[in-house]
Amino acid sequence: MKRFGYHEPTTLDEAVALLRRLGSEASVLAGGTDLLVQMKEHRREPAHVVNIKKIAGLDDLVFDAQGLRIGALTTTRAVETSPIARSHYAGLCEAATHFASIQVRNRATVVGNVCRASPSADTLPPLIADGAQVHIRGPRGLRVVAVQDFCIGPGQTVLAEGELVTHIVVPAPSEHTGKVYLKHGRRVEMELATVGVAVSLAREGDLCHEIRIVLGAVAPTPLRALQAEALLRNQTVSGALIEAAAQAAREASQPISDVRSSADYRRAMVAVLTRRAIEQAWEQAQ
Ligand SMILES: Cc1cc2nc3c(=O)[nH]c(=O)nc-3n(C[C@H](O)[C@H](O)[C@H](O)COP(=O)(O)OP(=O)(O)OC[C@H]3O[C@@H](n4cnc5c(N)ncnc54)[C@H](O)[C@@H]3O)c2cc1C
Repeated sequence: MKRFGYHEPTTLDEAVALLRRLGSEASVLAGGTDLLVQMKEHRREPAHVVNIKKIAGLDDLVFDAQGLRIGALTTTRAVETSPIARSHYAGLCEAATHFASIQVRNRATVVGNVCRASPSADTLPPLIADGAQVHIRGPRGLRVVAVQDFCIGPGQTVLAEGELVTHIVVPAPSEHTGKVYLKHGRRVEMELATVGVAVSLAREGDLCHEIRIVLGAVAPTPLRALQAEALLRNQTVSGALIEAAAQAAREASQPISDVRSSADYRRAMVAVLTRRAIEQAWEQAQ
């Protein structure tokens, strides 16, 4: 590994000042399960690493009227084992559960997963489906960006030099909502998603009041299947309509072929997983 300067700020102000001074030479370190692997493999060689773990108050997982607040140091394991996350944010909880190994989940943060901006990142589809927002602190103060707009390409985010994410807020769910994340890979455990589909919907009797469908690992960034959503929004749900939405999601996907799968297989799986995810979310929302 190339030598680098190591910094341990103890306040957010100190971290922002450091990141501003060091500019593009610096990388933020949270759990390190992505950053350290990339550094060991020489895929990333920052001259400075800014470890944020000594900053107090960044590991919160709090549920109130605003929703679920996930701090920058909150691990995927904390989400997986949170009764609140399990009962109100089932899609996100599922993503955090079928994620790497228990050892990795005890270190890997949700915010780190979002900031890594991998096309196959598991937490991104359910966070987008739930309308979550990223809270950013930087030299010019605070700003808030929808998770949907945060990733702009593989490994690329809207974060500017000197900025870091302090927390994510996932809005409180309304009544009769269903949230599902389905991940498909070559193995059941310890696998990155070949395709991931998240659905969050709200139901009023037989009417689908609101729905978001988000596809992971089939485009450079997670993709909203807007046509599929439009087919179901404010409609009486039927098997035929769900199937039409699944096909619309398949059309929306833009997969590539790689070591994990062919593009054709990914497209086919988008249709299968979207149908299943809508059906499960619909049942859950009763
Ligand atoms: C064996 C193994 C299995 C894995 N399996 C999965 C899997 O199943 N699904 C999956 O999605 N991922 C998986 N990953 C990837 C990784 O674990 C996740 O992306 C993890 O959530 C990253 O979080 P972290 O805290 O470790 O981030 P770090 O490695 O510390 O950081 C990741 C990136 O985010 C930036 N960053 C972190 N926090 C902030 C912040 N607060 N503000 C600004 N930038 C920040 C860092 O600079 C870096 O670029 C796996 C990794 C390993 C090693």
